[in-house]
Amino acid sequence: MNGRIVDGAGNPWYRADIGVAAGRIVSIGRLEGSSKKKMDAEGLVVAPGFIDMHSHSDMQLLVNPLAESKIRQGVTTEVIGNCGSSPAPLNKYTREEAKKESGELGKKIDWDWLGFDEFLRKMQRNGVALNVAPLVGNVPIRTYVMGFEARKPKASELAKMKMLLVRCMEEGAFGLSTGLIYSPSCYAKTPEIIELCKVVARYSGIYASHIRGEGDPLISSVREAITIGREAKVPVEIAHHKAAGKRNWGKIKKTLAMIQEAREHGIDVTCDVYPYTAGATGLAAGIPSWAHEGGTDRMIERLKDPKTRSRIKREIERGIPGWENLIGTAGPENVMITSSEKHRNYQGKRISELAKAARKNSLDFIFDLLVEERSRVGIVLFMIDENDMRKVISSPFSMIGSDAGAQAPYGVLGKAKPHPRSYGTFVRVLGKYVREEGLLTLPEAVRKMTSLPARKVGLWNRGLVRVGNWADLAIFDEDTVGDQATYTDPHQYPTGIECVIVNGKVVVEGKRHTKLLPGKVLRRGRD
Ligand SMILES: [Zn+2]
Repeated sequence: MNGRIVDGAGNPWYRADIGVAAGRIVSIGRLEGSSKKKMDAEGLVVAPGFIDMHSHSDMQLLVNPLAESKIRQGVTTEVIGNCGSSPAPLNKYTREEAKKESGELGKKIDWDWLGFDEFLRKMQRNGVALNVAPLVGNVPIRTYVMGFEARKPKASELAKMKMLLVRCMEEGAFGLSTGLIYSPSCYAKTPEIIELCKVVARYSGIYASHIRGEGDPLISSVREAITIGREAKVPVEIAHHKAAGKRNWGKIKKTLAMIQEAREHGIDVTCDVYPYTAGATGLAAGIPSWAHEGGTDRMIERLKDPKTRSRIKREIERGIPGWENLIGTAGPENVMITSSEKHRNYQGKRISELAKAARKNSLDFIFDLLVEERSRVGIVLFMIDENDMRKVISSPFSMIGSDAGAQAPYGVLGKAKPHPRSYGTFVRVLGKYVREEGLLTLPEAVRKMTSLPARKVGLWNRGLVRVGNWADLAIFDEDTVGDQATYTDPHQYPTGIECVIVNGKVVVEGKRHTKLLPGKVLRRGRD
């Protein structure tokens, strides 16, 4: 009651009451009625719950379904299965591999699913505080059929991948994601992806891509994503759009123009962005693609072999045309370790300082650590220009996505020092870029967090304050909303979020999580 409604469509606020029953918005206006429970939102903004267009909470939500770092920002729906990686579909062999790769987190999970539907049912059974809209990743599909082989699929293999994808789409996937810098997604060439995306288009799904390169190969990689959209007639979402590495700063002007031009030609290309100048990924992504062929064990053997190791070193120092050379482009002084299970003391420190302390060359330090941790090391890379990021945020077709999983300051999720975007993405946009800097208006920022991602992904009954929509709501104080998480102290909840409602149930009230799990594991077309 009495709140200022920012409806998600970009309209200026208006004052009204919202009536909720059976999980949905049933009335908006000056409501007198005798409702059982009344909530006063005087002085606060009432917006649709935020939709995290690019989340990696797939496994985290099984371990901690409270979704602490997300729900406390006002996020009520997460799009999972991004960057080519989803926990299903699996077969018995790929399940063993996935289990082995999942480290401490994976040990807390009962790996009792194979199919996509089975995974979604498991997540729903387990309960979840917010809604989840799943994409299916290219990695599980390709490894299911071809393992970690670096080659073109045979016709029969491509047919099999398409069959698997059909099944996932029928089971409710919202689309397909690729992570074209990661093995084995990186071995898929454009025509292979177009063939898969034709299946996705048949089911009105989307294609979400971590493109082939965000550094030196940025322009050609955006072009590839647009080509896939045109040829497969599929809506394209370019993930966490950025220009990585100083020598590529400024290229964003060109890529935003390319996206604009594609849109003028009827290709539905959009992008998402997080409000930080550092990215995050696994340290293993800094190793050339060819060295990943055959999987993690093979990569580790290559790093141990002195001759192969010096070849890899040379390639990172000099680059390989067309390859996304993360470490070489950013420089070891701009790479910070976020998670290392065997060396928690490395977390929050830069590679250059750690290597110096260990009296090692930075690349040898990296290789040794990857061997020791069986490649499970998380990093943050300081490699984005603030001005580029601001350009992407203020572009009309960008939406907000954290590129992070839901974390919590306690339990197994509290052990690493993750990128602060897990806790801060949405509130940082509202606090720093709307209130403090005026880069965009509040209604425009809310639109990028609500109706824009809802329409893109195909959530037709969410993302707007409208009668008949699901009652997902974020209620906040626009004068105090803001992020607290930092790179060295990331496990900090935000300020100014007063109440978060998911499917009509209050999940966050002031500083308190009610421990309710009203979230739904959504399926395409069955919202
Ligand atoms: Zn990514």
